[in-house]
Amino acid sequence: VAKSEERNAARLYSPMMQAAARRRLALATELRRALAKDEFRLVYQPSVELRSGRIVAVEALLRWHHPERGEILPGEFIPLAERLGLIRHIDEWVLDAACAQMRRWIDAGLPPLRVAVNVSASWFGHPGFIAGVRERIATWRMPSDRLLLEITEGAILQLGDDLQRTMRALHEMGVGVAIDDFGTGYSSLSYLKLPAIACLKIDQSFVAGLPDSANDAAIVEAMLALSGNLGLYAIAEGIENEAQHAFLLRAGCAEGQGYLYSRPVSVAEVERMLRRRPDPNPFRLHLVPPAG
Ligand code: C2E
Ligand code: MG
Ligand code: MG
Ligand code: MG
Repeated sequence: VAKSEERNAARLYSPMMQAAARRRLALATELRRALAKDEFRLVYQPSVELRSGRIVAVEALLRWHHPERGEILPGEFIPLAERLGLIRHIDEWVLDAACAQMRRWIDAGLPPLRVAVNVSASWFGHPGFIAGVRERIATWRMPSDRLLLEITEGAILQLGDDLQRTMRALHEMGVGVAIDDFGTGYSSLSYLKLPAIACLKIDQSFVAGLPDSANDAAIVEAMLALSGNLGLYAIAEGIENEAQHAFLLRAGCAEGQGYLYSRPVSVAEVERMLRRRPDPNPFRLHLVPPAG
């Protein structure tokens, strides 16, 4: 049985695997030209104050609009860009585009927002990183305290000797750093004392199990205590339902992101949501946690 299953599997999956490999190869070629051909776009996912439902920040998330293949998600092309050594240039483009967008929003008189930008280990560890950030801030007259750079524990681990210097430089510029996907890395916690660290983003894998998983609940509560005691703020990621929202609110989490409030959306859609005032709770949430 095992033998024939193997043969079947080979017959069934090998053409699929070949197709996947062909796509990867083609994407690699096309990714090299995507920046020059202006095929990248940013979408923005709102981050809300859990207590009020008010939008306080947005995270810039990258989309590749391929002329033939349509929209491609970062999960597929970011690892490819990393392998090809392109990610650093893409990150720089993203920071530039996000700061430009913030400048337009400020000039248009929209309510003040923080903008979060993901930074790969490769750019974070590059000698030109600090100069690149400083240049974007100057070009777009970006209020630096409204910029949050999201890095992973993996990026911190890779940096070694330059870590202190990089973090001090960001701190002096007034730029905050968030630890993205917090709790999924394999590093020590000592880096949480570094200058510029302002925020922990609780990974969605822990939020997913709330409120029923006792383990996830304990982990999330411990993360919130840790961030509070260190003077950091926490953002919970991947909030998809009201029960998760209620748990996090009650546990003292200040801010959250997730499909419950909004998917990542276009600039026009962000503006529409921001203008939908004076409604303080545009998401129709039950903001008072249910009794019991
Ligand atoms: P991330 O920074 O942790 O971003 C959160 C991801 O979770 C986003 O996926 C977002 O769409 C998704 N998400 C948000 N709310 C929910 C929810 O309620 N449920 C679920 N299931 N998912 C939710 P996206 O946009 O596909 O990005 C995936 C990852 O790609 C990001 O994870 C980030 O690591 C990376 N990435 C995205 N844009 C950039 C970029 O400009 N530069 C770099 N270096 N990496 C980026
Ligand atoms: Mg992120
Ligand atoms: Mg994240
Ligand atoms: Mg994540």
